[in-house]
Amino acid sequence: MSKFRTQNPGNQPVWVNTSNCKACDICVSVCPSGVLGMVYEPTSTLGAMISIQHPEACIGCMECELACPDFAIFVAEKGEFKFAKLTDESKTRQAAVVANKYRSLSEKGAI
Ligand code: SF4
Ligand code: SF4
Repeated sequence: MSKFRTQNPGNQPVWVNTSNCKACDICVSVCPSGVLGMVYEPTSTLGAMISIQHPEACIGCMECELACPDFAIFVAEKGEFKFAKLTDESKTRQAAVVANKYRSLSEKGAI
């Protein structure tokens, strides 16, 4: 477990230390399940911030936590949370997020 890990804010599959996030998009790019997306945030680096858009779809694969260069995103331990299964809907959403340049689909066309 990373020494940078922050405490789960409360029965969450995945959570973020926003003060460490540099808005690099890497976690969004590696998520297989369309859980993550970048949202507009004018006060942050690059004008964006990571957002957990579909926590209910998180499969607990740890890819985001392992890929983050800034120790800013964390995944619950197995047994700490009942993760979802990877579905066609999740895979389709992830493809759409990638096509949207890692922006959350809730912001599609907004930026
Ligand atoms: S990989 Fe880490 S630093 Fe980059 S957007 Fe995700 S949480 Fe932020
Ligand atoms: S643990 Fe896996 S499915 Fe969950 S947000 Fe991270 S990369 Fe996506």
